[in-house]
Amino acid sequence: MKKIPLSKPFVNDEIRQAALRVIDSGSYILTKECEAFEEELATHIGTKHVVLCSNWTGGVFMLHRAMGLQPNDEVIVPSHTAFPSIEPLMHWGAKPVFIDIDETYCLDVDLVEAAITPRTVGILPVHLYGHPADLDRIFKIADKHKLWVIEDCAQAQGARYKEKSVGSMGIAGAFSFFPSKNLTVLADGGCISTNDDAIAEQIRMLRNHGRKSKFLHEFAGYNLRFNDIQAAIGRVALRNLDRLNDHRRKVAARYHERLAGVVRTPIEKPGAVAVYHMYVIQTDRRDDLAKHLQENGIVAGIHYPVANHQQPAVTNQYSNLPKLPKTEAAVDKILSLPIYGELPMEDVDLVCDAVAEFFGKR
Ligand SMILES: *Cc1c(COP(=O)(O)O)cnc(C)c1O
Repeated sequence: MKKIPLSKPFVNDEIRQAALRVIDSGSYILTKECEAFEEELATHIGTKHVVLCSNWTGGVFMLHRAMGLQPNDEVIVPSHTAFPSIEPLMHWGAKPVFIDIDETYCLDVDLVEAAITPRTVGILPVHLYGHPADLDRIFKIADKHKLWVIEDCAQAQGARYKEKSVGSMGIAGAFSFFPSKNLTVLADGGCISTNDDAIAEQIRMLRNHGRKSKFLHEFAGYNLRFNDIQAAIGRVALRNLDRLNDHRRKVAARYHERLAGVVRTPIEKPGAVAVYHMYVIQTDRRDDLAKHLQENGIVAGIHYPVANHQQPAVTNQYSNLPKLPKTEAAVDKILSLPIYGELPMEDVDLVCDAVAEFFGKR
């Protein structure tokens, strides 16, 4: 039986050659390839600075410190996201204030203002599944209440919102290059994008033991650096990103054409160009459908089966957690179908056939 994976990282001969070239170069950490990758990412995202880090989580951990996040500060976040979205702020003693989702699975901006308290310092929207959150309305609220906005772009590299790339509009954006993401370096990795010189410089120092020059440490930092083999791979992947994202959009269009009316298909809001990190449908018969797909060699996923306001790490630490009806309802119905930058259209049709067969509509 043919197997169709949920996703598959982009690898070609140029990537293999790039890795070999760096292996033979003798230069491995934060040197030429990293510098070039940072510049090329900054150009693609449209910010003055990009700082490569060991991963998204480490990058945002440093970003919060660079921005002075304090214990008991409150940060408004969607609950429906990967757990790492809230993990770094928890380490600084800050409190996630969870918001329900809208019809794009991003945070529902209508609910943000009511969640603001005198302790609120920022909003952390997540461009979930590759769909940009409603940033104009978020910035309006943020400006009015003097809050920062950090964009979680881990699932949305290359997505656009009103002609601008995600990660270029908030005080900072954070990206992940984990193997399943739209832009991967075939390892852990990530970056922070920002137009703010001071934040960029702080993170550059924090990631590398608090130093600018080799033997002068201005404060105690961390080792959360990036590697040249990964940078060389990422540079090739970045040159292919827009093409691969376009293909994801074609896959999504085909799914929509064949599955709308059979299951609930995702929507794209006006002004948003989504990059479909995931293609997430909803059905009341989710678990049975997933089993049927599995029996047909098709891998489907659930992102995410436990909302963050119900995670043990959160319920053990915070009280007065909200009820989030839309998030809690979605968690039992969502199913992620196979999608990646080189998924053959025949495979998309096989997935659609299997879904249609399950619902007896074939
Ligand atoms: C993957 C992901 C992260 C974490 O990225 P890492 O590079 O693995 O630390 C954060 N937020 C979201 C939405 C993600 O999908």
